[in-house]
Amino acid sequence: MERSQAPLLALQRVGHIFDSGTTAVEGIDLSFAEGSFISLVGPSGCGKSTLLRIAAGLMTPSKGDVQRNFDRSPGALGFVFQDPTLMPWATALANVRLPLDISGRSGAQAAAATALARVGLAEFTQAYPRQLSGGMRMRVSIARAIATDPKLLLMDEPFAALDEFTRFKLNDDLLALWQANRWTVVFVTHSVREAVFLSQRVVVMSPRPGRIAADLAINLPAARAPDLRQTHAFADECARVTAALSQVMEPGSHV
Ligand code: ADP
Repeated sequence: MERSQAPLLALQRVGHIFDSGTTAVEGIDLSFAEGSFISLVGPSGCGKSTLLRIAAGLMTPSKGDVQRNFDRSPGALGFVFQDPTLMPWATALANVRLPLDISGRSGAQAAAATALARVGLAEFTQAYPRQLSGGMRMRVSIARAIATDPKLLLMDEPFAALDEFTRFKLNDDLLALWQANRWTVVFVTHSVREAVFLSQRVVVMSPRPGRIAADLAINLPAARAPDLRQTHAFADECARVTAALSQVMEPGSHV
């Protein structure tokens, strides 16, 4: 899966203390091979979002180094949040065009339409966010993030607010998109099943200050059809991640 020797992104001894004095993460060593899909799971407040922001370059860590082995041009990074954060007054197409216009790409209109088609919304380019379901709004948000064909796609609990059926469908479609495009994806989730279904590696973090408690390679076939969720192999991998999480959880704390 790895296309080159150097990882696309590497965090070395990364730690971060906020001005408030809160130590969010400490001693993080993580590398992300190009084209890999890695999930971060851990208790609330263990620093997952902080790590994503550091990875994105939106925050400079107070300790350690971040190596980004890719061209940091506008559009090289895609970010998807739990809230789709769409402009309510703009059509789906105009929302997806925004990062293309910002990065000065030519053919922005066609590229935005292509991105919407890739997430199954070819018929909805002229729809406004209020006319779309929660799952469709998230699809627009994903289209906006992938429209520039990013090297690194960072996703912070993107499907947490969706019902399970919609979430499964989006998981299936995201996986198909990743298999076709091989962006490097870092995905934060509270769902062990989602992390296992999507990922090649699941990184389990300890409660704050967040450290790496386990870094588990997921032993499942590369091609993951929806019915994989019903197999013993899938259940076994979920059990492995759950066991690692239970080891780090304090009684009464929340994932
Ligand atoms: P997670 O995504 O795992 O829930 P976060 O990265 O959001 O965790 O937060 C890690 C810790 O850092 C939490 O205790 C949180 O309250 C704290 N924190 C996050 N952002 C800030 C900030 N801007 N200033 C001070 N503390 C913060």
